[in-house]
Amino acid sequence: MKVPVVDPDLCTGCGACADTCPAVFEMGENDVAVVKNPSGAPESEIQEAIDGCPAEAISWKEQ
Ligand code: SF4
Repeated sequence: MKVPVVDPDLCTGCGACADTCPAVFEMGENDVAVVKNPSGAPESEIQEAIDGCPAEAISWKEQ
């Protein structure tokens, strides 16, 4: 299964992923997005958040 991961060094804290896919992403400490539930939304919705990240900070990781 693949899960989304956020690179905290790239995340600018814009909040777009948490707006697009709040079941999976939330804003954590220091305004860096975190994955709270990697399987909380359909893959297509997670992909939408990935594509919408202006910093290209979200990627898929195979587990
Ligand atoms: S969309 Fe990208 S830059 Fe914006 S909060 Fe989410 S991970 Fe960070």
